[in-house]
Amino acid sequence: MSIRDNVEFVLEQVEKAAIRSGRKLSDITVIGATKTQTPDAIDEMVNAGIKIAGENRVQEITQKYDMLKTKPAWHMIGHLQSNKIKYIIDKVELIHSVDSLSLLKEINKHAQRINKVMPVLLQVNVSGEESKFGMKPDEVEGILEQCDGLNNILVSGLMTIPPKQANPNDNILHFCNIFAKYIDIKDKKYNNVSIKHLSMGMSDDYVQAIESGATMVRIGTAVFGERQYKN
Ligand SMILES: *Cc1c(COP(=O)(O)O)cnc(C)c1O
Repeated sequence: MSIRDNVEFVLEQVEKAAIRSGRKLSDITVIGATKTQTPDAIDEMVNAGIKIAGENRVQEITQKYDMLKTKPAWHMIGHLQSNKIKYIIDKVELIHSVDSLSLLKEINKHAQRINKVMPVLLQVNVSGEESKFGMKPDEVEGILEQCDGLNNILVSGLMTIPPKQANPNDNILHFCNIFAKYIDIKDKKYNNVSIKHLSMGMSDDYVQAIESGATMVRIGTAVFGERQYKN
């Protein structure tokens, strides 16, 4: 299977899941998770119809940014250290992985310097796993209240990375829990907050995520095949 075939297959599944949840393909944003992939492979993905590249590491964004022929939009989807914000603040359209107020404040500061309003998502740890980044679901409202005054960020939604499961249906409960939180905060008014996106679902469980209300899915392996990590 080529990357093009994989993209076409994934977009078909996304469309079917969108329709099953009362929506359409254009209501779902598909992000290619491009870590470890070459510029050529990413160009192939973009040409086949996935127009957003999501990277986990700042260095992969800065290295690949000027190398692609297709010029996709870039999203930061991995853990972000505050000392690296400056390298990507002018390059990314969305940061999915903000897990603390201090990181929000740092992003705000860097965005202010370049006169940009930076859209971000708050990363929530739905499963309570020790190893995962993200805030607790009940910390979200407190953080949203403190966005008042951070005029160079716009909190646009929530993101989560649920545990890897042998059976992807085992994540439906986590997806439903965070969807409930998303709906809850969507209707409230906070400054510098406009909730639109719910980023959840990866190669193994994007169908379940969309059926549970995801508006964004981040897909790597199903597009590119198993990742090859170089030492
Ligand atoms: C790698 C990655 C994905 C995609 O994972 P696959 O299982 O390969 O689809 C999605 N989100 C994040 C944050 C990732 O790091």
